[in-house]
Amino acid sequence: MTPVCPFVKAARPDDNMSKKSGEKSVKHQAEFESKVKKESNESASASSKCPFGYDSQTFKIGPLSCMICQALLYECSKCVPCSHVFCKACISRFKDCPLCGADIEKIELDANLQSVVDRFIEGHARIKRSISSDKGEEEAESKPVIYEDVSLERGSFLVQQAMRAFRAQNIESAKSRLGLCAEDIRGQLEKVGNTSELCSQLGAVLGMLGDCCRAIGDAGSAVAYFEESVEFLSKLPKDDLEITHTLSVSLNKIGDLKYYDGDLQAARSYYFQSLNVRRDVMKHKSDVPSQVQDVAVSLAKVADVDRNLGNESLAIEGFQEAINLLESLTLKSDTSGLEQRRLSVLEFLRSQLADKQEQAELTV
Ligand SMILES: [Zn+2]
Ligand SMILES: [Zn+2]
Repeated sequence: MTPVCPFVKAARPDDNMSKKSGEKSVKHQAEFESKVKKESNESASASSKCPFGYDSQTFKIGPLSCMICQALLYECSKCVPCSHVFCKACISRFKDCPLCGADIEKIELDANLQSVVDRFIEGHARIKRSISSDKGEEEAESKPVIYEDVSLERGSFLVQQAMRAFRAQNIESAKSRLGLCAEDIRGQLEKVGNTSELCSQLGAVLGMLGDCCRAIGDAGSAVAYFEESVEFLSKLPKDDLEITHTLSVSLNKIGDLKYYDGDLQAARSYYFQSLNVRRDVMKHKSDVPSQVQDVAVSLAKVADVDRNLGNESLAIEGFQEAINLLESLTLKSDTSGLEQRRLSVLEFLRSQLADKQEQAELTV
């Protein structure tokens, strides 16, 4: 998957971030994810370009970057004796230096280099401060356009760094960059109010922070971030497919966390909210196959919880409705990825009904 800037509406950061989250493997989850959670994969085909110019490989890997995660150094750590420098989390997985192969006798934090990296980030990012100090607070305030442009650029940059770190499993680094980014957007929200652009950006960044927390097993914080993400995304008009998709995925992620926590009622409530978001979208975009498929997947999630709650007739109704939706969905020939997904979800749904029939026959 090519890295895309999550600040672009076509990107779906939560999906990009969630693949390697290393969650506890629950049997249910394994089955469910393999069959149903393919819901997000088709989005990768959407081509996107970061309006701020940071979606490509424009950021070169230099002396302030870690060769392992390919992002800016976080908790700079120097290998002894070879003196090569990496992030602490990145190098701690190695016994030999990945650059020169020397045995690592010990690892020393390099506070000086880290402060250079931090200043680089500040400089790149906090240009808003330097404007303030150069020209005085008032004059900077009177030029909101400059201020806004600069801040957005910093946001894309930080998110790009965070995504690299996340992919390399350096979650603390990713969290730190995203935290700064969220802080910036919040600052802007205070200044210019809830514009839809800022709300969708903050919603996306908070969702990514939720993914980070989930990846390190901090379910409580993950839920809090996803909930806040939902809060901001809910403020937005529901006619943007990418926003509603991100919103419904965030709701499902909270549902998943509640599910694994054993709180089935709460899980159902979140899955149901997600289903409703998707149903609303489908009402207006019934001609978009991926929307119909999203609804079917949501129906399956709700039905699965209903079954586990003992509401078998409700569950069967849900599975059946999902099957009907997918069976009546006709796809054009240029959407083979969607067709694959349709068939695999259908197969899963039918197996859900077949299992029960077999069980019923056995018990009779
Ligand atoms: Zn690193
Ligand atoms: Zn080395």
